[in-house]
Amino acid sequence: MKVAFFSTKSYDRQSFEAANVNYLHKLTFFEVQLNCDSAMLAAEFPVVCMFVNDIADAATLDMLASHGTRLLALRSAGFNTVDLKRAAELGIKVVRVPAYSPYAVAEHAVGLVLTLNRKLYRAYNRVRDDNFSLEGLIGFDIHGCKIGVIGTGKIGMVFAQIMQGFGCSLLGYDAYPNAQFEAIGNTRYVPLPELLDKSDIVSLHCPLLPETHHLIDAEAISQMKQGVMLINTSRGGLIDTSAVIGGIKSGKIGYLGIDVYEQEDELFFQDMSDTIIQDDTFQLLQSFPNVVITAHQAFLTRNALEGIADTTLSNIADFERGQPLKNEVAYSGSQK
Ligand code: NAD
Repeated sequence: MKVAFFSTKSYDRQSFEAANVNYLHKLTFFEVQLNCDSAMLAAEFPVVCMFVNDIADAATLDMLASHGTRLLALRSAGFNTVDLKRAAELGIKVVRVPAYSPYAVAEHAVGLVLTLNRKLYRAYNRVRDDNFSLEGLIGFDIHGCKIGVIGTGKIGMVFAQIMQGFGCSLLGYDAYPNAQFEAIGNTRYVPLPELLDKSDIVSLHCPLLPETHHLIDAEAISQMKQGVMLINTSRGGLIDTSAVIGGIKSGKIGYLGIDVYEQEDELFFQDMSDTIIQDDTFQLLQSFPNVVITAHQAFLTRNALEGIADTTLSNIADFERGQPLKNEVAYSGSQK
């Protein structure tokens, strides 16, 4: 099938061209973000492939549908930028990649924990500067900590297993608890306020939905331990950034590690090093010594890219053959 890819980088092209030898779809790669202004590029493409910061709102979907698009293939797990209701009204099917190496994201979350705790970002820069002082680099043993895992699905489970290996006890919170979490050992589900109250480290692994938007707001932060470490590799909108900045300033939040940011679609996935960044909130966050930000790279392992490409092209092949879409994101009535 003819597929128009948006927001593509060199690594997308490489992984999709390699995987496509098994599918032989006709792939066209656009670098621009998908939105209502760029949607015209997909005219006459029955399939559009989008990534996490592409915007498939009602205006974009209307434009795509009127020019022949019938399938929106997300090369991501999250689908929070798609207006599923409008897609359903227009008869555009939406498919995604529900699972691709949960290890990639979980291991990145653990990387943020260690980077923050042992201040590896400061240590790296110091040594490069021939400054071998250890002042200000004191960390703490992860062993024995209580870790709060919000969202115990595929990624949250792997994160929990790794942290259990460090000798931590784990508190889980999930709207749909699963028995495997408590089977890891040293794990138990608790209500969210108890998780926030007792955890030394809180890591977010639930999807961004209307009910999880700003899950971490001023009230949630007030329930956390003094000096807590907060990790978000899930979606920026889970966190009320202004409230988190307040928490960092007051000392309530001792460490913040994020791979996602609420307004990231204006910044991430592009080189802006020669640009004056206009987002004051982001710049303020960056200025704190106990904050580490990565630019939505948790998924970026070779293994994950191969999995994403193969599942996406297979989803498109299922659609082409009129087979059931096992990875369809159907409109449930409660979503946008
Ligand atoms: P998953 O669907 O396997 O797990 C999500 C878990 O969250 C499920 O157990 C679900 O029951 C739970 N959940 C749903 N609603 C909830 C609520 N209101 N409160 C608490 N828990 C709730 O998904 P996954 O593969 O583990 O991915 C988790 C998230 O990670 C994705 O939604 C995506 O946003 C994010 N992600 C980020 C990257 C990255 O590169 N940073 C890559 C992939 C996925």
